[in-house]
Amino acid sequence: MKQSRVRFAPSPTGYLHIGGLRTALYDYLFARNTQGKCILRIEDTDQSREVKGAAKSLISTLHSLGIDFDESPQAGGDYGPYIQSQRLELYCKHADELLQKGHAYYCFCSTETLSQMREEQQAKGEFVKYDRRCLQLSPQDIDAKLKAGESYVIRLKMPDEHRFAFDDEVRGHVEIESSQSDDQVLIKSDGFPTYHLAAVVDDHYMQITHVIRGEEWLSSTPKHIWLYECLGWQPPKWVHLPLILNTDRSKLSKRMNDVSVESYLEKGYLKEALLNFVALLGWHSADDREIYSLEELCEEFSLDRVSKAGAVFDLTKLDWMNGQYMRTLPLPAIAGRARQWFPQKWAQDYERYLKIISAARERCTLLPELAEYAKIFFEPATLTTQDQAILSSETSQKVLSWYHDQISEIQADDADAIDAITKAGMKELGIKGKDYYMPLRLALIGQPHGPDLPTIIAILGKAETLERLKSS
Ligand code: GLU
Repeated sequence: MKQSRVRFAPSPTGYLHIGGLRTALYDYLFARNTQGKCILRIEDTDQSREVKGAAKSLISTLHSLGIDFDESPQAGGDYGPYIQSQRLELYCKHADELLQKGHAYYCFCSTETLSQMREEQQAKGEFVKYDRRCLQLSPQDIDAKLKAGESYVIRLKMPDEHRFAFDDEVRGHVEIESSQSDDQVLIKSDGFPTYHLAAVVDDHYMQITHVIRGEEWLSSTPKHIWLYECLGWQPPKWVHLPLILNTDRSKLSKRMNDVSVESYLEKGYLKEALLNFVALLGWHSADDREIYSLEELCEEFSLDRVSKAGAVFDLTKLDWMNGQYMRTLPLPAIAGRARQWFPQKWAQDYERYLKIISAARERCTLLPELAEYAKIFFEPATLTTQDQAILSSETSQKVLSWYHDQISEIQADDADAIDAITKAGMKELGIKGKDYYMPLRLALIGQPHGPDLPTIIAILGKAETLERLKSS
């Protein structure tokens, strides 16, 4: 069987969108699963929307998540260049070919003419499309206009009354009438191709076998199929991924959610959780398992389990997943990633820092919360009046003073001894449960719940433990 070749083809217009990450990830998973090739192609033909540095940062974000490409501007490959602005001649050559064959035509209409046309069609409730007035121009008219240096675009001549039928790997059989397609601009007045021409030409030359992209491109597929036909090329397989939705089922938007991948990483989501979560936006395994490493996804992924129903972006699920990874990734990995949120001196003693992370990760969802949680070990507690009242009660003071004296006899990292003391205290003082534990935790960490006492004491160290017990 022919080796599969897929491409992620972002336009460098800003940050990496969650939807973009999903496409890149599915491309990557599909390529790995089928021993194919995953290609990165930068689609920078819309010069007005290009943001400097966006391509670079997008590549580095994907790399930091573990998604690398077999062929790309950096890695090179046999089908380069992989940046569209470096392939302009190729697009012009095929635009010329289409002109020669009568499948494309020059259009000299001004922006004003076009917007007037649009308004009139809208007013009449018609499908908005170019009315083909320039198709009537004679070769002499065209020559004269070109010689006079008039600005022009080149349009694709779509067939009349044609029903485009194709099989989509996700959506099954799709039929779209040609009347719903405009005579697409192929070459713009600045001489650059539009996405439609450039993508088709590149997908052909780069021997792409599967075009995996968002559902928003489904309605453009007839134009692309038509281009393949006019150029005498074999089209690839089409794979349109379902929309990603806000929880109210509107299209995923900034209004309701953060949509940039970078912002999730900045907030301290773990790459493992983010990838796992995004993988499940439209794909699921036969047994509906939820937790997958990237390697496992590469093993399991298949296009026939991509659903066509919109996938809801549920932040509570991402949070849940992140919590799972916070607790299950190797401790040094979490410690390393949390480091940037910790003040230098809180992490100086690495053994102690690991103990803090180990205790905190049981109770935190995001990386910065670990540092927030660690405050209990470094900063004096601010107690509520109610907590203060609990601490100053006679029973509490009895517990604290007894505990203080016992701890002063042992090592702070002797967990067994601490457990033994804790048990013995309840017996000896005849104080149990809340009345016993609450004052100890309040005195030591300023809150009624938290890690077990041996963990707290080991982290605080003996001197600090005694000080906190005494001064409460
Ligand atoms: N440049 C297009 C985009 O950024 C790519 C669409 C496609 O994959 O064909 O959405």
